Order: sequence, then structure tokens, then C-alpha cells
Amino acid sequence: MKTEVAVLASGSSGNAVYISSGKYSVLIDVGLSGREIEKRMKKLNLNPENLSAVLITHEHNDHIKGAGILSRRYNIPIYANQGTWAEGKQKLGKIKNENCNIFSEDFMIGDLAFTPYSISHDAADPVGYICQADGKKIAVATDTGVLTDEAAKKLSGSDFLILESNHDLEMLMTGKYPHYLKNRIKSEFGHLSNDAAADILPDLIGSNFPTVVLAHLSQKNNNPKIAYITVNNNLQKSGLKVGRDLNLECAVQNKPTELFDLDKRYTADEY
Ligand SMILES: [Zn+2]
Ligand SMILES: [Zn+2]
Repeated sequence: MKTEVAVLASGSSGNAVYISSGKYSVLIDVGLSGREIEKRMKKLNLNPENLSAVLITHEHNDHIKGAGILSRRYNIPIYANQGTWAEGKQKLGKIKNENCNIFSEDFMIGDLAFTPYSISHDAADPVGYICQADGKKIAVATDTGVLTDEAAKKLSGSDFLILESNHDLEMLMTGKYPHYLKNRIKSEFGHLSNDAAADILPDLIGSNFPTVVLAHLSQKNNNPKIAYITVNNNLQKSGLKVGRDLNLECAVQNKPTELFDLDKRYTADEY
């Protein structure tokens, strides 16, 4: 059995992460249209019919938009906490009773074990997820204005870490966004900056050669090259080397990453 992960889309126009144990597979968030998610899965030779569940992090459109459609089209159960269900209900549309799963603690989907943890974001009850699959730890940490020590502790030692690197602070502040939006993004309930991701990442890296995917990059206030360089600079300062200690990648909005096999050792192209 192979443990596989792909980021199908990442950014403020839509997010989705695919995780599979070989036997069971889920999407964390479906922030793309039904058609677009089908297209992206097909590109990686994945079939939505085989999905065991869809998990939602929070009710913002870029995370929930296509979840209801997918659930109805393929009869897929949706998992979310109470707050997200309440706020996201309208966006999900009608979901069969048997496909509504409200969690309040850790839960299993087949052989995949999920630990939701609180993130700092302007939604009802937003969470990130840590997934254990066949001894591998996969973590999603996006849409959070800050990463608390508690969250960082949970994320450390991951084999596959999807970490928010939303904006370059200078690009954000000198850019065209209205004042209120700039303030929202950089607030503690907004999004992690490149600098914040760079600061925290060295503490999260274990000796297990993880793959780290920088995610939820703003298309206006960031670009993969700046995010990568900012994060990599701080890794180097901390004595960590891409290719020797970890693999570092960037997820983008308009196309999926490759389908990562967690038993393989990846080395990315440098920017
Ligand atoms: Zn988002
Ligand atoms: Zn959000």
C-alpha cells in the first residue's frame, strides 16, 4: 500500500489536498468547482468515485465551494466541526443526512487517523489537520495568522507538511489591496507571511527528510520564487539544507503538484 499526497490547488481562489493510504483516500477542502476538481484529479490519474470522504477546514469559499457538489455527485461523506457546519451550510447546499459528519475530536476514516487542531483565522471554528497514514504524518497548516506553540508542537516531525507562506509583507503593504484587506491578511486571524513561515519552519523539521510544500501563496502579494528564497534563506541560517535534510516545494493556484509517494525521497528543482 502506498501513502500518497498531492496539493490539487492552493491559494485564495481555491484549495484542495488529496491524501491516500492506498485503501482509503480523502480530500481536505474542495474550494474548486466540481468540474475543476474532477479535471485535476484526472490529471493525476485519480478518480473522485474512489474518495472515502471530504474534510473541511473552514467555511470560506476557497475551501468549501465544491464540497457539496462533490458529495452529491459521488455520494461522499463530509466531515466538519459544528461551527463550520453551521456557517458553511448554505454554501454546501443539501447534503444527505448520512453524509453529514460532525466531529468534536480525533476521528478515523478507514485506516487514516485525523487530528484536527485549531488555527488562528477569521472563520467560525477553523482547523488544520494532522493525518497519520501507515506510520507517516501528513499535516496541513494554512489559513492561520499565527502558528501557536501548541500547533507548532503538533506539526513538528511531519513527513509531509503543507505550510502557509501567503505573502511577502513588503509586496502586500506597497500593493494595491485596500487598507482593510491588508490589515485583515496580516492580522493574527489572517494568513502567514513568507517571513513567518521561514521563522517557524526550522523548528518543525525532524531527521526524517520531510517534504515541505509552501502553500496558499497570494497571486498578487507573493510569488513562488520569493517565498522559496525567503524560507530557504532561514533554513540555511539554521544549518538545514534542501536536498540533504528536506525537500522544499511550492504549491500554486492554477495546477496540481505531482502526486507524492511518501516512501520515495524527492528533491525539488531549486528556484
Ligand atoms: Zn483560504
Ligand atoms: Zn480562509
